[in-house]
Amino acid sequence: MKNLFKTFFFFLILLFPHTYLLAKKTQITLQLSWLHQFEYAGYYAAKEKGYYDNIGLDVIIKEMNYLRKDSVIDDVLAGKINFAISYSSIIERYLNGDDLVFIANFLKHSPLVLVSQEGIRLPSDIRGKRFMGGSDALKNTAFHLMLKQFGISKDDFIDVPQTFSINDFIDKKVDVTSIFLTNQVYKLNKAGAKYNIINPENYGAEFYTNNLFTSKAQYLKYPNIVKAFKQATIKGWKYALENKEELVDIILKKYNSQNKTKEELLFEANQIENLVLESVYPLGSINLNRVIRIADTYIQMGIVKKHSRKNKLKEFVLEPVTNNPILTKAQKKYLEKKKELTLCIDPNWMPFEEIDKKGRHIGLSSEYFDIFRKELGFPITLVKTESWTQTLDYLITRRCDILSLGMKTKDREEYLNFSAPVISTPLVLATKPDIPFIDNISNLEGRKIGIVKDYSFEKTLKRKYPFLDFVSVKSVDDGLLKVINEELFGFVGALPIAAYKFQESYLGQLKIAAKFDEKLVLSMGFRNDEPELSKIFSSLLSQITPKTKDYIYNKYVAISYESRKDYSLVWYSVFFFITIIAIFIYWNRKLRLQKEQTEKLLYELKFTEKLLEEKNEKLEKLYITDKLTNIYNRQKLDTELEKEIYRSTRTGYKFSLILVDIDHFKEVNDEYGHQIGDSVLIGFAKILGRGLRRMDILGRWGGEEFLIICPHTDEKGIQVKAEYIRKTIEKEIFPYIGKKTASLGVTTFKHADTEETILNRADKALYEAKNQGRNKSVFLI
Ligand code: GH3
Ligand code: MG
Ligand code: MG
Repeated sequence: MKNLFKTFFFFLILLFPHTYLLAKKTQITLQLSWLHQFEYAGYYAAKEKGYYDNIGLDVIIKEMNYLRKDSVIDDVLAGKINFAISYSSIIERYLNGDDLVFIANFLKHSPLVLVSQEGIRLPSDIRGKRFMGGSDALKNTAFHLMLKQFGISKDDFIDVPQTFSINDFIDKKVDVTSIFLTNQVYKLNKAGAKYNIINPENYGAEFYTNNLFTSKAQYLKYPNIVKAFKQATIKGWKYALENKEELVDIILKKYNSQNKTKEELLFEANQIENLVLESVYPLGSINLNRVIRIADTYIQMGIVKKHSRKNKLKEFVLEPVTNNPILTKAQKKYLEKKKELTLCIDPNWMPFEEIDKKGRHIGLSSEYFDIFRKELGFPITLVKTESWTQTLDYLITRRCDILSLGMKTKDREEYLNFSAPVISTPLVLATKPDIPFIDNISNLEGRKIGIVKDYSFEKTLKRKYPFLDFVSVKSVDDGLLKVINEELFGFVGALPIAAYKFQESYLGQLKIAAKFDEKLVLSMGFRNDEPELSKIFSSLLSQITPKTKDYIYNKYVAISYESRKDYSLVWYSVFFFITIIAIFIYWNRKLRLQKEQTEKLLYELKFTEKLLEEKNEKLEKLYITDKLTNIYNRQKLDTELEKEIYRSTRTGYKFSLILVDIDHFKEVNDEYGHQIGDSVLIGFAKILGRGLRRMDILGRWGGEEFLIICPHTDEKGIQVKAEYIRKTIEKEIFPYIGKKTASLGVTTFKHADTEETILNRADKALYEAKNQGRNKSVFLI
C-alpha cells in the first residue's frame, strides 16, 4: 500500500513538477568516491540548480571517508546508501556475483596515471627505480596490465612507502609514483617540476571512471526514481561544463573541504572536461561493448572466476548504448544469407600474421579481426592454408571471402576489392652487422641484393634502382641466410618482418643498414563479386581510431623490442632506427603545419637523441661483453685481433697471443653441475685479468677457452707471461672444486700473418700443451 502510494506520488511529481513545493521531499544519499572537488561538479550543479528538487529528491552528498573505502559497495548493497560513485571495480563486483546496477558513466578515461622523473619514459624504464606506492599501484588493474606487458612485477623496482605527498616526487626523493591528472599535475607544474606521464591507456588499459551505481534491490524498488535521478544528474553535468567558473565558485563556497584555490579548481575543471569528452560521447552514456571489454580484462587477469555473468552484463547496465555498425538493409540481408564469413591469411608472416601450431590466427592482423567479430557480432572463420600461394588460390576460387592483409595490385584487383591501407611500413636493407649505415642507396651500385620472388614491390624497386643487382630468393629466411653466408650483400624486406626475424632466428647476425623510400602498404581484401562485403568492412575499419591502430602496430612492432631482456646491438639498431624514422616523420609533418612548434619539437628530438645515445652506449658495452664472465666476448676479440694485425703489419711492432683452455673442465660440470661450472669460469676470468697490463686484451673465446692479446710483446715476453699465468692458476683454490689447471697455447705475430694463421698456430700450441700432459704452456712460431 505504502509503495503504491509512493509510486503514485512519484508520477504526480513527474507530471506536475511544481507540486514538490507541497510535498515532503524524499531524502536520498549519494556517496562520492573521493573528497569534494570538481570531479563531482555535475552532482553539485544538479543539487544547487534545483534539478534534484524538481524530481522531489533531497540529495545528501557525502564525501569519501577513505578509511572505510572498501565498504561503499557493501553499503549500497545493504541499502545504507542509495547511490554511489565508483571506479570500474563495480564491473568486477558484478561479475563476481554482486547485484549492482550501473546507472551512468561520466569520465570516459581514467585520470589515474604514473608520473616519472625525466628520462623515465616507458613502463620498462621503471625497472630498478624508486617507485612510491609501487606495490599498491600494482593492485590497480590498469597499472597492473600495463606493467605486466613489460614484464615488470613488484620485485623489479624499489617499493617506497606511499606518503601521498607529491613533494616527495618534486624533491626527487622518488622516481615514479601514481597521480591524478586532474589535480596533482597542477602542483607539479606550479613547482616547475620536470616530469613524464606514463598513461596506462596508451598501453591498452582503458577503464571507465566516475561510475554512478546503485543496488539491483533498490533499483527494482524505485526504478523511476533511479531513472529520474540519472536524468537530473546528466542535466547537472551539462550545466557544470557550460558554467565551469560558476561551479568553481560554488565549490569554493560550499564544498571546499580540500582548501583548493580558484586557479587550482579551474585547472581541474578543464582536465575533467577532457575526460568527460562530451563532444564524442553523450553525457552519462555507457557503451555496452566497452563494459564487455573491461569485463574481458578482469576475466583475463583471473580476478573474476565465474564467466557466466559476462553474458548478463546487459542486465547490469541501465539503458546501455551500443555502437554496433549501422548496417544498411542490404548489408543486413547479405549477412543473414551468409551465415559465416571465411578468412584467409598468410600462414607464415610474423609479426603481421601466422597460423600457429594450434591452428589459430595470431599476429597483428588477428587483432583487427577480433575487433570486427566483437563489433559485428558475426562469425568470421579462419580457413587454414599452407602457403601464401594457396591463400591467393583460395581467394580466387572463392573458398575465402576475406584476405586479411595484402598489397593492392592490378592482378589482385581482378578478384578482390581492397580497403584503405591498414599498415604502411618502410622497406629496409638487412646486411651483416659490420656494414656501416648506408644513407644513399646509390652507394650500393653493383651489390647483390636479395628480394623474395613475386613480392609485389619487386617490380617497383627494380625499375627505380636499375643499378642494383637484384637476386630473387625463395623466402625471407632464404634471403637472410644468404646474407649471413655472404652469398648476398643484403636483403630487402619490410621493417617489421626483418626486425621480427632478427629477434626470432638471427640474433646478432644481421643489422639494418639502409632504408628505402618505398613503403610496403597493406590493405584488406574482400571478394569483389559480393560488393556488400567490402562496404561493411570499410565502415568497420573507419571506426577503428588511429590510436587503436598505433597501439596494435606497436604491440607487434615496437614494444616487443623493449620487453625482451636480451638486448643485442642489432636489436637496438632496429629500435633506434624506428624511433628516428618516427621522429623524423613526425617532425617533418609538424614543421610544415606549425612553424611555431619547431623549437619545441627540436628540443624533443634532441632529448630523444640524448636518450638514444645513452642507450647506444649501454648497448655498445653489451655487444662486446660476454654475459657470463663480464669480460670481452669473441666479437670484440675478433675486432681487436684484426686491429693488432693491421698495426703490426704497418709498424713492425710485435704482438703476441695466449689461448687458455681449462683442463678437464667437463668433469667440473659432470661432478658439480653447470652452475658451479659457470662460477669457475667467472673465477678464471678474474684470475686471468689480474696479471695483465692496461693495454692487454682479455676475452672469452668460447666455452672454457680464453684469449689474451698482448700488444707490444715479443716471443720472450709472452712466454714469461704465459708461465706466470699458468702458475697463478695452478696455485688458486676455487670454491667447491679446489684446484684446477689450464693449458696455454702461445704465439707471436710474424710477417704475413692473418687472423686465421696466427690463431691456428695458437691452437696448435694449445693442442701440443694438452698432449704434453696438460698444465703446460707451449710456444710455437
Ligand atoms: P681438456 O680441455 O683438458 O681436453 O678437457 P675438457 O673437459 O676441458 O674438454 P672439452 O673442451 O671437451 O670440454 C669443455 C667443456 O666445457 C664442455 C662444456 O660442457 C663446458 N662448457 C663450455 N661452455 C660452458 C659454460 O658456459 N658453462 C659451463 N658450466 N660449462 C661450459
Ligand atoms: Mg676446450
Ligand atoms: Mg678444456
